[in-house]
Amino acid sequence: MPTGAPTAQGDATALTHAPALRRLIADLDALALGNPEALRAHQQACLHALHAHFRQHSAWYRARRERAGLAPEAGLGLDTLTRLSPITRAELQGLGDTAFTDPPTGHGAVRLTQTSGSSGEPVRVARTELSHLYWMAYGVREHRWFQRDAGQSLFVVRANLDRRFIAQQTWGPPIDLLEQTGPGYAASLSLSTADIAGLMTELKPAYVLLYPSVLRDLLRQFAARGEVPPGLRQVRSMGETLPQDLRDAVKAAWQVDAVDAYSSQELGVIAIQCPDGEGYHLMAENLIVEVTHPDGTACAPGETGQVVVTDLHNLATPLIRYAIGDLAEAGGTCRCGCRLPMVRAIRGRMRNLITYPDGQRRWPLVGFAKFRDIAPISQYQVVQHSVDLIELRLKCVPLGTAQEQALKEVMRTALGHVFPIQIVYHPDGLPLQANGKHEEVISLVSA
Ligand SMILES: [Zn+2]
Repeated sequence: MPTGAPTAQGDATALTHAPALRRLIADLDALALGNPEALRAHQQACLHALHAHFRQHSAWYRARRERAGLAPEAGLGLDTLTRLSPITRAELQGLGDTAFTDPPTGHGAVRLTQTSGSSGEPVRVARTELSHLYWMAYGVREHRWFQRDAGQSLFVVRANLDRRFIAQQTWGPPIDLLEQTGPGYAASLSLSTADIAGLMTELKPAYVLLYPSVLRDLLRQFAARGEVPPGLRQVRSMGETLPQDLRDAVKAAWQVDAVDAYSSQELGVIAIQCPDGEGYHLMAENLIVEVTHPDGTACAPGETGQVVVTDLHNLATPLIRYAIGDLAEAGGTCRCGCRLPMVRAIRGRMRNLITYPDGQRRWPLVGFAKFRDIAPISQYQVVQHSVDLIELRLKCVPLGTAQEQALKEVMRTALGHVFPIQIVYHPDGLPLQANGKHEEVISLVSA
């Protein structure tokens, strides 16, 4: 465990203070840039500590090991980890609070966090203050990797804001614990895109942080005005998959990069886009992230599979080989010099996979972007109800038969199968999920 991890009792809140954060960041950077063997040894030591704790405190962990044919005294290492079958979200949900254990002294207070439940399955996880310290350290790392000038302003669009807009003097934690920052603004997702664009024009933020679906709307909003956001240096995305076509559109229209980090309520920051290479570096000092085929074998670079994560420092919930429900494309090593392993792309959620009549589940080929060549569709959503019915929801006025036919053709080509397709119009906008997120493809067919 890095020396940033506290071992003394003391004041638990001291964990999230600047000195502990600084120490942890230095330790993490040493692991990320050092000898890969040191990183491996660190992960191995963390697994050993996880095992010692959960073996003693979690009946569920003991039973799980038994099912995998692992004796309690056999320990847990990088070689035996993959013998445990992944825990699904549904399984974790079913366990409720019985999954939680009291962490050792020194890991700080425990807080319960609930996922937003974008797939209708909110998951509750107990997290320690030490886990939160890692989250904060990676938050700072993301700013530093992209060499952001914290003296500039930051504008965030948030789903969970209880007011329409707030202006603060700083960017907020974690970065303002370590550096003096410029002002931070937050706008509610409930504002119209026109209002958000208006605020950006007035406040001229250097950095914006928002959902890709909002970003797409903003691009159209600024294009319609014949303007670009003044003073903007970089777009940061969160919460949803950031597709390549959207990155390209931002670069072309606004001459700035759109960059991404991958995080979750249960695990904190999982991966950060490499500022110099292609793909995302995994936060391997805190998490072991695997990308696996449905049969459990590891994906080779370039293959897409499910993301399975082991949290190395949260001793309040045994998130050991947790199948978070997301898909990623496995990666190799990076040319940038950082030793942290890679994924090439974050693909979305498992429920974004289309189910075919032969029972196979596949990621639809990119191609729906062509919709806009056919008609002025500002937003769409593909919802699979069964292998015999796919609904295409469109935000636009009803189209003519020829246009509808052309759209169905585009979809069938992208899906690689002649599914029955029903078009449903939502001229005033598609219904948002409770968490404010938008997913372009949702399959309601259970796996
Ligand atoms: Zn890199």
